[in-house]
Amino acid sequence: MLGSMKRLNSAILPLTVILAIALAICVLGILQYRWTNEIAVSEQQRLAAVLKKDVREFNRRFAYDFERLGEAFELDPAEPASTIDGRMLARYVEWKQSTTEPDVLAGIYLWRKDAAPPAPDLESLDRTHLQFQTSNWASELEQLPPDLQKQFARLPSSMAGREALYYPWKFYGDGDALVRPLFRLVSPARDSDMEVEPIGLLIVEIDEHYLDTHYFPELVEDLSSSGFKTVIRSARPPYRTIYLSGVSFPISSSPPDAQLDLFDSVVQEAQRRGHPAVDFVGDGQQWQLVVRHSSGSLEAAVTEWRRTNLAISLGLLLILLICLGLVFSTARRAERLGKFQLQFVAGVSHELSTPLTVINSALENVADGIAGDPAKAREYALILRDQSSRLSRLLDQVLLLASGKLGQSSLDLQPVEIASVVALTIAASEQVLREKQFAVEKEIAADVPSVVADPVLVSECVENLINNAVKYAGPNRWIAVRVRHARTHSLDEIQVAIEDRGIGIASPELGSIFEPFHRVQAVRDGPTRGAGLGLYLVKRMVENMGGQVSVSSELGRGSSFVLHFPVKRSGKEMAAPVNTSASPAK
Ligand code: ADP
Repeated sequence: MLGSMKRLNSAILPLTVILAIALAICVLGILQYRWTNEIAVSEQQRLAAVLKKDVREFNRRFAYDFERLGEAFELDPAEPASTIDGRMLARYVEWKQSTTEPDVLAGIYLWRKDAAPPAPDLESLDRTHLQFQTSNWASELEQLPPDLQKQFARLPSSMAGREALYYPWKFYGDGDALVRPLFRLVSPARDSDMEVEPIGLLIVEIDEHYLDTHYFPELVEDLSSSGFKTVIRSARPPYRTIYLSGVSFPISSSPPDAQLDLFDSVVQEAQRRGHPAVDFVGDGQQWQLVVRHSSGSLEAAVTEWRRTNLAISLGLLLILLICLGLVFSTARRAERLGKFQLQFVAGVSHELSTPLTVINSALENVADGIAGDPAKAREYALILRDQSSRLSRLLDQVLLLASGKLGQSSLDLQPVEIASVVALTIAASEQVLREKQFAVEKEIAADVPSVVADPVLVSECVENLINNAVKYAGPNRWIAVRVRHARTHSLDEIQVAIEDRGIGIASPELGSIFEPFHRVQAVRDGPTRGAGLGLYLVKRMVENMGGQVSVSSELGRGSSFVLHFPVKRSGKEMAAPVNTSASPAK
């Protein structure tokens, strides 16, 4: 009672610990889920703040660079028109020395409306030789002249000097150019102000290729490293892309994470510094910055982040749970194996005792002089040789079992007359059976064909089953050994049946008795000793010879073990595994 209480405690304790750990892991999982949700909210806020900061910085730098670009090329309308080229040159040199982005500028053009020949109507700045020279329109600006004509035509024929001084730039987003009128002093006005008239246009060309390959990539670096994709495009449809970070812009139905018109900030910067603003020729000429997270949107990014985090943490917890289960099952298996090993050590001696008993009794007979005549002596010598080789064979099998290599390599396959092997095996056990007062019923068919098998193993299997029949015979000391040739349209085999009227096996146990070290519970608690290895070895040996073992049994009424050896099979065909079938006796 006390022992079983102890066993119960030792089984319940680890189970309770494992259940407690499993429960703790589940609670951790729930906490992790909630915690991840909370973190996701702050992650979204963090990303939004990062986006705001990066966009603000982008805007600040763009406004600074482009406002300074315009500012650099403002000319005083009060100065003589004849000095425009020289002043523009000086402005360029000054700007080049002060700017950090000299390559933003693609060219400077001076277009004069009514240039009197031979004076050219278009000059461009040769930046190598630092001089203006007659020029044609650069291919990028080819579509400009008609617009410039129109712009010029819209200019008032004259205006006050102050108005001219603050006359805004016009931005041609399509042609990448900032354009502003060139003025000539007409006359000083009465109120000591002066009057000027437009004589042409100054065109500052922006290098869109440089913007695309150097300027914008550097400006969006922070945005990109925070996982945002950026596009700079015309502000209104049809959209023209000026710059795209990456190969494509994320598609999403939600509004972009950030969007702003770039030249608005240039205008603000110019106003702040007291310089001319920037206008657009048309609404579509404005450039726009559009930012979207590479996941589609900021919300999508956070959802993805949350999902990934949850998957990782819950995955880890799941792995922990699985490990816990593995630890539990390994511990159980180790415990079972420990028990089996104890049984094995106790049982192996018993497994070895049968041939030893035969050897002993044969030797005793020899010693008692029973084997006086040469024929008898030879018979005993054969028995001794047979049993000792079986003994070593059994040891080999046990060693083989221990090494896990029980296989076909050790087979000595040859045509075997099963009937005579069985008869010899019964003969070898007959004396023991007689001593134990067993009634032995033999029924060996005469016309049994031979099969390909290992004769020693066949004999070992039969002997093993006879031994079991004797061990588990109970009070009914009866066994039968039958050999018959079973032949139907689908079957052609030799069947060796070993039957007893002993204790039998309950149906639920029948499936397990062929497992190594397995012993029926009732037997395990009883006095009969054994390792639980015999049937396992029989099954492996028969199967390796291409046969199979079946059993039928009824508790308290006896058992019948049948070895099935197929007839007319080649060695290779016999290697195919077959199932061991077990069924209760009918
Ligand atoms: P063991 O060394 O225990 O006999 P076996 O592998 O030969 O090992 O048999 C496994 C178990 O099958 C036995 O412990 C016993 O419970 C049951 N068994 C085997 N043969 C018989 C039989 N003829 N009658 C009843 N039970 C048997």
